[in-house]
Amino acid sequence: MDYQNRAGVRFGGGGVAGYQETNAARRERLRQLALETIDLSKDPYFMKNHLGTFECRLCLTTHANDGSYLAHTQGKKHQTNLARRAAMESRRGAQASTAAQPAAVSQSQIQVRKNIVKIGRPGYKVTKIRDPETGQLGLRFQLKFPDIATNVNPRYRIMSAFEQKVEVPDRNYQYMVIAAEPYESVAFKIDAREIDDSPGRFWTYWDAPTYTIQLFFR
Ligand SMILES: [Zn+2]
Repeated sequence: MDYQNRAGVRFGGGGVAGYQETNAARRERLRQLALETIDLSKDPYFMKNHLGTFECRLCLTTHANDGSYLAHTQGKKHQTNLARRAAMESRRGAQASTAAQPAAVSQSQIQVRKNIVKIGRPGYKVTKIRDPETGQLGLRFQLKFPDIATNVNPRYRIMSAFEQKVEVPDRNYQYMVIAAEPYESVAFKIDAREIDDSPGRFWTYWDAPTYTIQLFFR
């Protein structure tokens, strides 16, 4: 399909434009912009049906025009279905990994990871805490994952300054890294003090959509 040579919209035509007209022009401008940056011919879910309207093969929805389809792909329903499909494919990949061909397996796992569409960073809150009895200082991390993929639990990992590759290593800091697909992983830079791992002093709690991690420094 040729998206380049479509009838354009007149911009800045002068005169008094009505509110409706302005909105329509804005929509059209965004549509043109999206068409320039997104190649629908490479979208496996985009389909033109025999009625000349468009369908999303993932969500089984119909759309009057390609712009409306594009708007749909940015919406919650489509994103949720994409995340669900990615989770399903990653489960399939995990099953395949029990087969006895390590080389082929790692290849398929790499492909699965590419299919995950990241949907941005989670909302978060970090609170400094102090144990009233021991006087120990600590941190409580609370993150919100309302659109986490089905059957996915958030995971954390504490990384030293020398394990991470994002910043110049500084031995005074370590990182609390939290992952929950399809969200982008986030890292919190914290003091490189020893974390108290005695019973009950370090815990995580997943009560969807909120993931909480609490720690005390020794
Ligand atoms: Zn869709």
